[in-house]
Amino acid sequence: APALLWFRRDLRIADHHALTAAAAAGRVVPLFVLDDDTPGEFRIGGAQRWWLHHSLAALNESIGGKLVLRRGRAADVVRAVAQEIGAAEVHATALYEPWERETEAALADLVTFHDGDTLVPPDRVTTQGGSPFKVYGAFWRALTEQLPPEQALPAPDVQFVAGPGGDKLANWNLLPTKPDWATGFGKEWTPGEAGALERLDEFVTEVAAYERRRDRPSEEGTSRLSPHLHWGEVSPRQVWDALHPRGGSKFLKELAWRDFARSAMLAQPDIGWSNGRAAMDRLPWRTGADAEADFAAWTKGRTGYPIVDAGMRQLWATGWMHNRGRMIAASFLTKHLLIDWRRGAAWFWDTLIDADYGNNSLNWQWIAGTGTASQMFNRIMAPLAQSEKFDAGDYIREWVPELAGLDDDMIHDPADDRRGAYPPRLIGHREARDRALSALAKVRG
Ligand code: FAD
Repeated sequence: APALLWFRRDLRIADHHALTAAAAAGRVVPLFVLDDDTPGEFRIGGAQRWWLHHSLAALNESIGGKLVLRRGRAADVVRAVAQEIGAAEVHATALYEPWERETEAALADLVTFHDGDTLVPPDRVTTQGGSPFKVYGAFWRALTEQLPPEQALPAPDVQFVAGPGGDKLANWNLLPTKPDWATGFGKEWTPGEAGALERLDEFVTEVAAYERRRDRPSEEGTSRLSPHLHWGEVSPRQVWDALHPRGGSKFLKELAWRDFARSAMLAQPDIGWSNGRAAMDRLPWRTGADAEADFAAWTKGRTGYPIVDAGMRQLWATGWMHNRGRMIAASFLTKHLLIDWRRGAAWFWDTLIDADYGNNSLNWQWIAGTGTASQMFNRIMAPLAQSEKFDAGDYIREWVPELAGLDDDMIHDPADDRRGAYPPRLIGHREARDRALSALAKVRG
């Protein structure tokens, strides 16, 4: 009897513990399940469906067209397929989202779950009492004691065999049509394991400059590995092995935030919809028609703040935004516009090609000041000063063409008579700050 390998967010062949175990058991039937039911509102978003389509196509090609595609509740589908093929063993990689854990619990009698999504399995990075850490500093210190991670495994020798019938990828309609808003994605990204390793190879030569360049959105100073890591086209251990010898310590400390987010999901499974600090439930977020209009302007990159709009337009066009842009745009939505972070996180969920429940929720709550591991709400980023400090002029010129003619003195904060077709500010910085701080006063009571 063949073994069943259930591919999840581990769409690669190398450094794959579950696949290696399945291959050791004999012939392998590879399965991927599209589950839009179990995750509820966290079903895979629009931009990621584009990515998933291409990543599955690449994986299927690399395994000789044997990938079985099924749709439905993963817990039911995996059990059904295992029965159909009379699987001797079933292997998969463990994940940490609450709905994934629910599925894993339902399959615990059938499937062997393996590590592979993190540098170090989250249950090995805990306080002495065995609880997850609440703040990153302590998490990082404990993680460091577990490093280096286990060495990445080579691609196993696998005999994939044809399984039972399945769906055709094209019939899943993962690609957008009418309109096809993803036309810019293909120029920017190559989904799949080969694309991920190519990106990693390129970044090996750039990592030494990461610390100097990472905060400057005008430069391509970061790895852009996030969607590849999210889909597991490359593992964090492989990234470690490639970059650690190149002096990538600052980079690896950022990469470890991804592990921290997994730990945070275990500590607070509802991190995507509940404030980590309960007192923040009293914050009077704006609602109603004016707030809706402001939210729409934010999504479209028409807030009148060049750095915010550059980021939001980059997001729409490419499915990705520079981290500095994400921080400024998220701070602007939650503080300047006083709109609930969950609205912003939901927009990111649908538009980011690297949308990741742990990373997205943790970072939104951190910026909004609602999380347990958070800066305080009263730290209000000044977008114009940020723009200058991180030298975002060229970033703005690229993404806000209405302002491309302005020089560095003017571009971060264009005077009213120099804006041309570019929208006026939704609200002034001072006024926004006062409004946010008086809302915060209500939390304190
Ligand atoms: P690099 O700087 O090259 O970092 C390498 C890798 O480390 C990233 O690919 C990522 O896996 C990890 N990483 C880096 N910074 C963080 C961080 N702050 N938190 C968690 N992991 C990190 N990242 C996502 O992967 N998915 C999201 O949905 C997401 N939403 C975010 C929302 C907000 C409001 C903010 C402020 C940040 C968010 N991030 C998210 C974190 C970060 O912005 C991205 O991981 C990073 O910009 C991806 O680009 P990169 O791969 O070039 O990053």
